Amino acid sequence: MWSALRAWRRSRILAKAKLDERAWHLALQRLPFAQALPAEERKRLQELTILFLHDKRFSTAHGLQLTDAMRLHVAIQACILILNLGIEFYRGWREIIVYPAEFVPRHEYTDEIGVVHQGDEAYAGEAWLHGPVILSWADVAETEYPDGVNVVIHEFAHKLDMLNGSANGYPPLHRGMSRQVWVEAFRAAYNDFCTRVDRDENTVIDPYASESPAEFFAVMSEAFFELPDVVQAEYPGVYQQLLQFYRQDPRTQVGPPTKRRALRAEH
Ligand SMILES: [Zn+2]
Repeated sequence: MWSALRAWRRSRILAKAKLDERAWHLALQRLPFAQALPAEERKRLQELTILFLHDKRFSTAHGLQLTDAMRLHVAIQACILILNLGIEFYRGWREIIVYPAEFVPRHEYTDEIGVVHQGDEAYAGEAWLHGPVILSWADVAETEYPDGVNVVIHEFAHKLDMLNGSANGYPPLHRGMSRQVWVEAFRAAYNDFCTRVDRDENTVIDPYASESPAEFFAVMSEAFFELPDVVQAEYPGVYQQLLQFYRQDPRTQVGPPTKRRALRAEH
């Protein structure tokens, strides 16, 4: 019953949708990992993007003027993650807030000895449990694709992680996936990666991944879509788990890796 209603609603939105084909192709040209998809998958990506733009509400801060092209640029990247999962994976929240550049969150946090701080670090993006995704347009507009750094993929990976509570690097797994295999693959890779960062190794994967298991999952998701060969070569166990989780294999979809850009402040 509910699935029939959902299918009806979906076909109604898609039938009424007006997505400019020229704008769509221009947007794809900026995203090699989307443009390289087979035609059938690009069509599915387009449908998901239409549903996403219908369901989500964009707002801006600090006077940023948001255009349809900017919304589309964010939506396509967000929908790459759910290409084979479905729009329901972004259920339970609605708002995307776009700042012109990095922003300092106003919320407070409590440190390990119980002292409450007002955040003073600038972020390129943030995802709230049951709440908005917040993005810095300056960071979203970063044009070096694929370099393994993608703030949209990062924040929306956090959203998938949050489907079963606070972000902790353990999203709800699909039927047939093993919790034990996931945990062992990610734990071993995370420990190894932290050791490499601690000894100042110049890693291709963003060292920000060493912040926490939650950040590791989000950064590995960025690399999975943009530099899949690197993830496969360095952490094949994680690659296999991400392949099963995202139900796609980006190694067949993108060109050779390029150098990563400088580390950014991000959350
Ligand atoms: Zn993060």
